[in-house]
Amino acid sequence: MANKIPRVPVREQDPAIRATNFEEVCYGYNIEEATLEASRCLNCKNPRCVAACPVGIQIPHFIERLTAGDVSGAAEVISQDSSLPSICGRVCPQESQCEGACILGIKGEPVAIGKLERYVGDYRLENPAPESNTPRNGHKVAVVGSGPSGLACASDLAQMGYEVTVFEALHEVGGVLVYGIPEFRLPKKKVVAKEIDAVRRLGVKFETDVVVGRTVTVDSLLDEEGFDAVFIGSGAGLPRFMGIEGENLNGVLSANEFLTRANLMRAYDEEYDTPIYVGRRVVVVGGGNVAMDAVRTAKRLGAEATIVYRRSEKELPARVEEVHHAKQEGIEFRMLTNPTRVIGDDKGWVTGLNCVQMELGEPDESGRRSPVEVAGSDFTIECDVVIMALGTSPNPLIASTTDELETTRRGCIVADEEGRTSRRGVFAGGDTVTGAATVILAMGAGRKAAKAIDEYIRNK
Ligand SMILES: Cc1cc2nc3c(=O)[nH]c(=O)nc-3n(C[C@H](O)[C@H](O)[C@H](O)COP(=O)(O)OP(=O)(O)OC[C@H]3O[C@@H](n4cnc5c(N)ncnc54)[C@H](O)[C@@H]3O)c2cc1C
Repeated sequence: MANKIPRVPVREQDPAIRATNFEEVCYGYNIEEATLEASRCLNCKNPRCVAACPVGIQIPHFIERLTAGDVSGAAEVISQDSSLPSICGRVCPQESQCEGACILGIKGEPVAIGKLERYVGDYRLENPAPESNTPRNGHKVAVVGSGPSGLACASDLAQMGYEVTVFEALHEVGGVLVYGIPEFRLPKKKVVAKEIDAVRRLGVKFETDVVVGRTVTVDSLLDEEGFDAVFIGSGAGLPRFMGIEGENLNGVLSANEFLTRANLMRAYDEEYDTPIYVGRRVVVVGGGNVAMDAVRTAKRLGAEATIVYRRSEKELPARVEEVHHAKQEGIEFRMLTNPTRVIGDDKGWVTGLNCVQMELGEPDESGRRSPVEVAGSDFTIECDVVIMALGTSPNPLIASTTDELETTRRGCIVADEEGRTSRRGVFAGGDTVTGAATVILAMGAGRKAAKAIDEYIRNK
């Protein structure tokens, strides 16, 4: 019986070797492994996995095509709901979405939906679909930001016949996919650039080095440049700090800045002599995916690398797979530890991080037990660099330069389920609305907004 087959393990780079290079950790399935894993799917009548996927990919349907050996057909099924399967197959938190809902997971191991999606997505990258010849409908839509929300919105609108231009502040397209998530989890040339090329082939135009709010404004795009609607998918790239003493010392960085240097300035590429300082020992403060990416990047750049997190391991918000990989690579985890002060030398460079020990008290409003300081437990971790990975907020620039755009106290743009904002013709989605979240949620928001934009323009 299909469900008696154990989940097919995925091949990975040896931890001791990969901790010294930036090549991809996970090799993914080959055709035999993918077909065998696909054959485990029970093809449920009411597939819970589809309901648990924020973009509603027809999972059993694509897996059925794969089992039949029709990889191209499987890619066709996925492409109806997602333009970025190679990316999502690599970075989505499947354990809490599609795989978390898989019926096989109740008594055993769920189908490896993410690895199958990755296999199909990679096949599509090697065998690209032809350039789109959808006739243009004469209406123009501007998309601000080229992260997953912008890419998903732009793809859907281009397929409906709109002329879509994506305006991106940076010199490279892709948002967090290029400047945040490291090469060893998401290869830039092999995967991200190719998947974005597929979006280009749908007819989407990209203009880089355009900071909306400075170079142009949302108002001027609508009132002077002839765009019928604007989608804002500008993310949440503004880092938060702890507000503790010593945070302005040399050697204290936000995870965003550190990872941007590593990714966009190509510290991962041996052919580049990237100026990036890690010293002998790096401490990363935080416990999310961003913290794991920063600490594993620091390790690969040659530092001893430690995570400092104020709750216990059970509360770590990072994906289980990332924590597992980090441990395999020799990252030190100091749980129930809270920084109180960054210590520096007389030249202003970091020499250590003062911390206190914590213990878990009563649950807070999030349901997690709150960390409480243990009196008199001060100690110092010696280090040269401290990286803060404490979360991010949206940059206020766009909202502050656009008329009638309502935002929350935290600077998030207020939008309804379909992405409509308080300003007519302006839609928003992704991290700029929700605060830092996930690639697939951002894509889902972009897709919903595309539908709402189409409806808005048709009724205009
Ligand atoms: C290091 C890191 C690791 C992560 N790991 C994961 C993971 O494993 N799995 C997962 O699902 N999610 C992960 N996330 C979260 C995920 O990447 C984000 O939720 C997602 O990228 C949000 O998409 P977005 O389109 O809303 O914004 P972004 O990806 O942030 O893209 C926004 C884009 O808008 C551009 N922009 C901003 N302001 C302007 C302006 N004024 N004018 C023009 N352009 C502008 C930015 O330069 C950027 O390119 C991670 C995030 C980080 C930082």
